[in-house]
Amino acid sequence: MSKRDYYEVLGLNRGASAEEIKKAYRKLARQYHPDVNKAPDAEEKFKEIKEAYEVLSDPQKKASYDQFGHAGVNQGAGAGGAGAGGFDPSDFGGFGDIFDMFFGGGGRRRNPNAPRQGADLQYSLTIEFEEAYFGANKEIRIPKEEICPECHGSGAKPGTTPETCSFCRGTGEEETVQQTPFGRIVNRRTCHVCHGKGKIIREKCPRCQGSGRIRQTKTISVTIPAGIDDGSQLRISGEGEPGINGGPPGDLYILLRVKSHSFFEREGDDLYCEVPINFAQAALGAEIEVPTMGGKVHLKIPAGTQSGTFFRLKGKGFPRLRGNGQGDQHVRVIVVTPKHLTERQKELLREIFAEELPLHQDTFFDKMKKAFRGE
Ligand SMILES: [Zn+2]
Ligand SMILES: [Zn+2]
Repeated sequence: MSKRDYYEVLGLNRGASAEEIKKAYRKLARQYHPDVNKAPDAEEKFKEIKEAYEVLSDPQKKASYDQFGHAGVNQGAGAGGAGAGGFDPSDFGGFGDIFDMFFGGGGRRRNPNAPRQGADLQYSLTIEFEEAYFGANKEIRIPKEEICPECHGSGAKPGTTPETCSFCRGTGEEETVQQTPFGRIVNRRTCHVCHGKGKIIREKCPRCQGSGRIRQTKTISVTIPAGIDDGSQLRISGEGEPGINGGPPGDLYILLRVKSHSFFEREGDDLYCEVPINFAQAALGAEIEVPTMGGKVHLKIPAGTQSGTFFRLKGKGFPRLRGNGQGDQHVRVIVVTPKHLTERQKELLREIFAEELPLHQDTFFDKMKKAFRGE
């Protein structure tokens, strides 16, 4: 199966900036997140997007990808099969090893003990329409990895410490030198004794079985700002997976889904609703009560109002997330035609509209004719 170009996956041109890559990824990840998108191919798409981002957001991987395409970064993790020459990708600690292979060992060494940032996490959270309008404080419980409190992440039984691997002297790598007709090739691969960690644990921590991490459900408070829209993402700094070798933790991204409202519809910061009025109110004018998110307000309907007319309630829309003030509420009045009339009511109506109706109809049909003639 041929893989799609990573830039193409993110809808970008080669030479896109880091900022553009990030932006494109956020947008697509929101769109195809399996929690949100129920299309059968959404999960596959999401994986593809994530993979593309993982490569293009890493300056090293990106450089290699730009130069060598998929071969430059093919390293398992769902990337589909073994790398060049039938190597098992799991034998290699990561990108650095493959880079070295191509260049006969001239590349940069990767220090297994170097601090690395933990992975970002993403969760989705559904909130009520009212919570999006007024803002809210929510507590969410998410499963995530934490540094093991027993061994503080070392993985060694409390009271013992991990030993430096004597085979690789802590580098996590072993080298094999091969003489070929093309010259000397240095293969650097993950140390088979310590599996790239550079350390050996003689007695494992009983709590985490030597991994240094435990899975836990953590309660995190989330402040939802008033005015947030469906599909927004909140970043909670430092609540992602813990860092490696003392590196900083990743971030937690919360994708917000806002439930729809039975009466209001939102468009940007504006609200739309429909309010029924009767015939007499439309014809004679009236003051009606209209619900807003902040309670009922009075709205003056002028005499002669047509069904479908919009009225604007300034500042009754959503609070603006950026900048001040609020959007507007647009009220569409619908004139309800009575269905059950008494004989007397019918008579009165006939009397009132006998002369006026044909005139209106004429202008209406004139307009329609013009429209069909394309005028
Ligand atoms: Zn532990
Ligand atoms: Zn080793």
